[in-house]
Amino acid sequence: MYLILLGPPGTGKGTQAKLVAEKLGLAHISSGDMLRDAVQRGTDLGRQAKAYMDKGELVPDELTIAMIEERLGQPHAQAGALFDGFPRTMQQAKALDQALARQGKAATAALHIAARDDEILRRLTGRWLCPSCGAIYHEHSLPPKASGVCDQCGGTLTQRDDDRPDVARARLERQRPAEELLHHYREQGKLVDINGEQDVDAVTHDLMAAIEQTPAAPERR
Ligand code: AMP
Repeated sequence: MYLILLGPPGTGKGTQAKLVAEKLGLAHISSGDMLRDAVQRGTDLGRQAKAYMDKGELVPDELTIAMIEERLGQPHAQAGALFDGFPRTMQQAKALDQALARQGKAATAALHIAARDDEILRRLTGRWLCPSCGAIYHEHSLPPKASGVCDQCGGTLTQRDDDRPDVARARLERQRPAEELLHHYREQGKLVDINGEQDVDAVTHDLMAAIEQTPAAPERR
């Protein structure tokens, strides 16, 4: 089974990817994690990718595609995989289709964790940190007892630059799945929309239920 997970930031896509891959025994192939690892290890790929990542831009297709193709060829991916953060462009989507086809395989489903922009922005901008002790709060889901004050140590809470409304909006625009990608999988009858405005457990439940409905569901393989 080869699953593709799509979704904007703020919907817990990375968390869901790990949970679902583990439940199904699939390799979790996260392009972001692989690129960060390459940067940290100082490989050729890491050196080439770093400049783009530092600017928040997409790494060129030829680099990401080669990286994913190599990963897909490894023994660990032969029993199935869940792609997280890849594909991001049409060229990547077509390359993935072809790489799977060369192995006599095909994507099983593209699961799109969707949420409205205002809900995403509410989630992305609600996070506050305590610079003194590192505690993390969220205006809506985990508020401190007194606004702006750390429950643990009484420190004054601050917001990370990334979480400020203008920066969060720019991040959403940059990272939301491209409409043409959604169209690509919808056209193949593989796109499933999942309500990403629910809590983590409910989203996992809906993802698993959607996967059960696919032709390659575990008990029918
Ligand atoms: P992520 O953790 O998925 O947000 O990825 C972190 C950064 O890695 C992104 O901002 C991009 O610079 C790069 N990246 C991750 N996946 C891809 C991809 N599929 N195509 C191009 N760049 C990517």
